[in-house]
Amino acid sequence: MRAREGDSVDCDVLIIGGGIAGLSLGSALAGRTSVLLVEAEETLGFHTSSRSARQLIPSYGPPVIQDLTVRTLAMIRALEVHLPEPVLTARSFLLVGSEETVRDRASGHMHPITEAQLQALAPELKPGCFAAAGLDTTSVACNTDALMEYHHRRILDRGGRIRTASPVRSAVFEAGTAETGPGAPAADCTGSWVSAAGDTSIRSRVVVNAAGAWADQLADLYSARPRGLQPYRRTAAVVDVQHPLAEDAPMVADADESFYYRPEGRQVLISPSESIPSAPMDAQPQADDVAALVTRVNALTTLGITGVARSWTGLRTQAADGLPVVGYDDVVPGFFWLAGQGGYGFQTSSGIAELGAALLLGETSEIPAAEALRPARITL
Ligand SMILES: Cc1cc2nc3c(=O)[nH]c(=O)nc-3n(C[C@H](O)[C@H](O)[C@H](O)COP(=O)(O)OP(=O)(O)OC[C@H]3O[C@@H](n4cnc5c(N)ncnc54)[C@H](O)[C@@H]3O)c2cc1C
Repeated sequence: MRAREGDSVDCDVLIIGGGIAGLSLGSALAGRTSVLLVEAEETLGFHTSSRSARQLIPSYGPPVIQDLTVRTLAMIRALEVHLPEPVLTARSFLLVGSEETVRDRASGHMHPITEAQLQALAPELKPGCFAAAGLDTTSVACNTDALMEYHHRRILDRGGRIRTASPVRSAVFEAGTAETGPGAPAADCTGSWVSAAGDTSIRSRVVVNAAGAWADQLADLYSARPRGLQPYRRTAAVVDVQHPLAEDAPMVADADESFYYRPEGRQVLISPSESIPSAPMDAQPQADDVAALVTRVNALTTLGITGVARSWTGLRTQAADGLPVVGYDDVVPGFFWLAGQGGYGFQTSSGIAELGAALLLGETSEIPAAEALRPARITL
């Protein structure tokens, strides 16, 4: 049978996964090396990246995440000048809880506030529900669709290629002249991977695993050992309320991670902040979870939720230590990890992409996170 045109393509870096992780790395690499991004679904950002709360919070997460978040914010502010509308808008983050839990989350970006300040910022919270509060005024809302579209366009404008509806289902490694395979430095591989994506055969020097909830499964296709990357369900809903929040009201979350909410126009976005282990899948909300959340938020606030306009569930995927996994595999040649972003995928996206691009291009990176995120740290 004659091969159809396009059945076999070459690139330097094949990125597997068209969520914010793959798109921001592709955007950082395009024009510097040849990049092809493949996505299993018909549309980019179909899974977790279209299901987030769209908030970037510099005080959220361990120090390495906070550093990457601050870096990402600065990078997004720099790219915003190329866009017709800003991607980021001010929206503070208000943490409520016990004295102890709020104190534990205090950092350079979050400072404790008084009861009177809490009342002024979140008058909808019923008095006496929480003993303490902290405020992060550096937190911002993010137009995640616009951010992904920016990266998408930038990849194409700089000669990169994107293929949707192209699930990678198998791969073989073809060794070059130098020694490769187990024991050889993964970054110095001289062979190439041939990956089957849909009906296309793709030859690349490097394969990047940006497969989100499927990252460990994808690694298995390339004979890389799994890193214990576990997807966890998290649900959110947009609800109608009797008493809407002010447009500039902060996002409010409790320190025990049992709920958060924030304004969504005249409606309110709410989440039970659950973290329930799941297999990789197109996760869907459960009616009972949403109903229980509505009851809880109505008990704690005067919002007066009258109905659920829409709800969704996404999978936040993370390693046991809660940090992303970024860098070359320690054994398998030419296999690069970009996974495990958990609940920080947007707020760390540009910082992680900058680090990933530097490692892939063999450039020196000034990002201190490199050591903390390295895949070899995980020994299961
Ligand atoms: C309810 C909720 C709220 C959140 N809120 C925030 C927030 O406010 N701020 C924040 O920073 N983060 C937030 N997050 C986390 C953030 O959304 C994720 O960290 C981020 O979207 C992960 O992006 P990703 O690209 O790694 O994964 P995904 O978006 O899931 O992309 C991975 C892609 O890989 C594709 N794929 C998998 N296997 C293959 C294959 N074999 N071949 C081809 N393609 C494949 C999948 O189809 C998928 O599209 C939230 C998450 C949830 C669920």
